[in-house]
Amino acid sequence: MDFDASDWMHRPKGGIEVVCGSMFSGKTEELIRRLKRAGFAHQKIEIFKPAIDVRYDTVRVVSHDEKAVNSTPVQTASEILLHVSDAEVVGIDEAQFFGEDLAEVCTLLANRGIRVIIAGLDMDFEGKPFGPMPQLMAIAESVTKVHAVCVKCGNPAQFSHRFSGSKNLVQLGETDSYEPLCRRCYLEATGQTEKE
Ligand SMILES: [Zn+2]
Repeated sequence: MDFDASDWMHRPKGGIEVVCGSMFSGKTEELIRRLKRAGFAHQKIEIFKPAIDVRYDTVRVVSHDEKAVNSTPVQTASEILLHVSDAEVVGIDEAQFFGEDLAEVCTLLANRGIRVIIAGLDMDFEGKPFGPMPQLMAIAESVTKVHAVCVKCGNPAQFSHRFSGSKNLVQLGETDSYEPLCRRCYLEATGQTEKE
């Protein structure tokens, strides 16, 4: 089974945790849960998301003194380095929209002793690895894959099936155009089932 992030989170060493899955899998909720726990432990938190993600303010974390911590939108991964200041824990949401240099940035932060928690879509709507996510999963201490529920059969779902006409990947944030599907239902919905 997967590595329990809590085993090492209290050590002041730094590291990388990835929470990934399809849309509606609860990635951001898991990110927030981990950040809240760190906040209750009086650790200083900074949260970042790509400036491209303008859907809604998903990442709001209530710190120990009841103050909500908002995420900082950044244009590029390297911009995160400019804003980190004295953070002990760095959360990154919608990581799939960053460039592949995000892995390098996260390594720098972790080597500096910062706990980096990343949430993102592991696959795009075509079922292909999304942006920097494969690299991040490779270099992380801990990878947690969370699942949605298949809207067709109720099994665990890992695919984000697009059923609108647009080819724009960025539209992956719009909840009305995507549905979570399991492998079998995804293959059926995209006409990829093998003839028997
Ligand atoms: Zn299904």
